[in-house]
Amino acid sequence: MNFEAIREQDRKYILHTYGRVDAALVRGENARAWDCDGKEYIDFTAGIGVNALGYSDPGWVQAVTKQAGEIQHLCNYYYSPACTGLAQLLMQASGMAQAFFCNSGAEANECAIKVARKYGEKRGAYKIVTLENSFHGRTLTTLAATGQDGFHQLFQPLTPGFVYAKANDLASVEALLDGSVCAVLIETVQGEGGVVPMEADFIRGLRELCTRHDVLLMVDEVQTGVGRTGYFYSYQGYGIQPDVVTSAKGLAGGLPIGACLVAEHLRDCLAPGQQGSTFGGNPVACAGGQEVVRRVSDPAFLRAVTEKGAYLREKLEAMDGVVAVRGRGLMLGVQLKDGVDAHDVLLACAEAGLLVLTAKEVVRFLPPLTITQKDMDDGLKIFETVLKSF
Ligand SMILES: *Cc1c(COP(=O)(O)O)cnc(C)c1O
Repeated sequence: MNFEAIREQDRKYILHTYGRVDAALVRGENARAWDCDGKEYIDFTAGIGVNALGYSDPGWVQAVTKQAGEIQHLCNYYYSPACTGLAQLLMQASGMAQAFFCNSGAEANECAIKVARKYGEKRGAYKIVTLENSFHGRTLTTLAATGQDGFHQLFQPLTPGFVYAKANDLASVEALLDGSVCAVLIETVQGEGGVVPMEADFIRGLRELCTRHDVLLMVDEVQTGVGRTGYFYSYQGYGIQPDVVTSAKGLAGGLPIGACLVAEHLRDCLAPGQQGSTFGGNPVACAGGQEVVRRVSDPAFLRAVTEKGAYLREKLEAMDGVVAVRGRGLMLGVQLKDGVDAHDVLLACAEAGLLVLTAKEVVRFLPPLTITQKDMDDGLKIFETVLKSF
């Protein structure tokens, strides 16, 4: 099928909720992808940080196809070793105690919000503090959690009970802890908000503050998790342990999955019937997840992510047209010189054979964690050439 025909099908049959780029990707291999016309791209997106092991990694393909050939789905009334095995690996990698599995980041956050509401229920504490400029999902409740007014218009009324504090400002969080709050929900690096890292003092201070006020600290690791920042979960880089962690995007290496992880003191905090998901814990997704978690949690793999991130950052910082680079590990936001629009750069990059993302005013890179030196260099070369044309 040629590109024009595909675009016409999209125009006619799909609701236009996405601003698309003119490329129909049909095949990929690690950090390279090919479109329907055979054009090759270097991929610095990994499907918004989803393809942690790159496109069609052989070990991952083998794990999911083997599982699909054995049993592809079963109802949650039965036990699934694919699911229990993933849960064990995930607890070992995270230091958490138990997981609830679902299918997306928003659903993982919905579960976290339920855990928090139940935790505060007896003392009437139901509010959840989130940060300005955060992003937590597209459901009506996770939109309410998202601290950006732009997301709140059109869909009123949203779920009540969310209050917003300033990022990197401990006093602004503390001011909201008046006894009606059951949890604080944060990203350690705000992804959709423009790749904005939280300061170490803020994260550690929050941990202490939450403990003191008997409020759950919940970390949304949907984008930062599963090796992205050079730690299995980014909170591990701050030496803190949250009460609740949410995970999705890269967790199953490209299959739909979400997980809400709870700490030991919240063991069995939800009872039978209090949460569920038809597809949650799906064996094929979990088989992909086992392959991802096993490989990404290896300290040598994580070290390589940190090194690749440092390399990209160093090369980017030296480029004309780059004002600053933000982020951690392989989650990078490139701030461009004044007057250069990130979305225009994204389109020019695609034209030139490099796939990138944007977030607010920055060009965002979330390459596969397995990206090779050559693919980083080839992508950087394209990026540098594109920037010169602006
Ligand atoms: C992408 C994202 C979500 C939403 O995940 P979906 O799988 O799209 O529902 C939630 N939180 C953060 C931090 C994200 O980056």
